[in-house]
Amino acid sequence: MPDRFLAVDNVGVEYGKGGARCWALSSLTLAFEPERLTLVQGPSGSGKTTLLSLLGCLLKPHQGKVYVGGEDVSRMSESRRTRIRQQKIGFIFQAFRLFRSLPALDNVAIAGDVAGKGLRKRARQLMEELGLGAKLSQKPDELSGGEKQRVAIARALLRNPPILLADEPTASLDSRSGEQIATLLRDLAERERRTIVVVSHDARWERLAHRTVLLADGQLVNHFVSQDR
Ligand code: ADP
Ligand code: MG
Repeated sequence: MPDRFLAVDNVGVEYGKGGARCWALSSLTLAFEPERLTLVQGPSGSGKTTLLSLLGCLLKPHQGKVYVGGEDVSRMSESRRTRIRQQKIGFIFQAFRLFRSLPALDNVAIAGDVAGKGLRKRARQLMEELGLGAKLSQKPDELSGGEKQRVAIARALLRNPPILLADEPTASLDSRSGEQIATLLRDLAERERRTIVVVSHDARWERLAHRTVLLADGQLVNHFVSQDR
C-alpha cells in the first residue's frame, strides 16, 4: 500500500452471530489522499459508517489493517488507540451531538477537558474564525442548524487534529447552510491541509470533493477524481 497516512488494507468487518452474521465491509482496500477531501457515497447499509468507525479507531477490523497517521492501529491496545483518536481525529456528525444545557463556547471547549487548560481561548478563537463570535453564549436551541454544525466543527478542531471524519454532516441542514458547511470543510482541507473524509448522499458534495469513492455491500465499486480539480 503506497500511502499509509489514512488507509484501510484488505479490511473485513463482521456483525452479528451464527445465522445472522453479515460482513459490513469485505476485502476493502482504500487510501485517503492527505490534505484532500474525499467523499464516500453508497446506499444505506453499504458500510459507510462502519468505514468511518474503523478510521476513527472506534472499531477494530476482523481482518486486514487500518492505518491512521501512518500507524497500523488495527492491533493496538485500547489506550494507544484512544490516544491516537484524541490527537489525530476530529468527528462531525449529522445530529451535531451538542449539550443542550451548555452555551456554545462551552460545547467547543469541552473537547479540551482531558487535554488541559488554555483551550478555552482557542475555542473562542475558532468560533470567531467560523463566524460564531456573536454566538458564544447562545445555547444550541437558540442556534440555527448551520450554526450548530459550525459549533460542532469548532469542537472537532479544538485539538487541532490533522484528520476530520464527518458522517452525513449536511443531512439535517437546509440547502443554503448545507452548502456553507460543505464549502467550509473543503476549505479546511485546502487552506489548513487537513485530511477530510465525508460520508454523504448529498449531491452538493460531488462538486466540492477532491475525490469520490462509491461503496456497495461493503465493497469498493467505483472511485473518481473530481473533474474541476
Ligand atoms: P451505512 O452507513 O452505509 O448505512 P453501516 O456501516 O451503518 O452502513 O452498516 C453496514 C451494514 O452493517 C448494514 O447491513 C448494517 O445493517 C450492518 N450493521 C451496522 N452496524 C451494526 C451493528 N452494530 N450490529 C449489527 N449490524 C450492523
Ligand atoms: Mg451510516
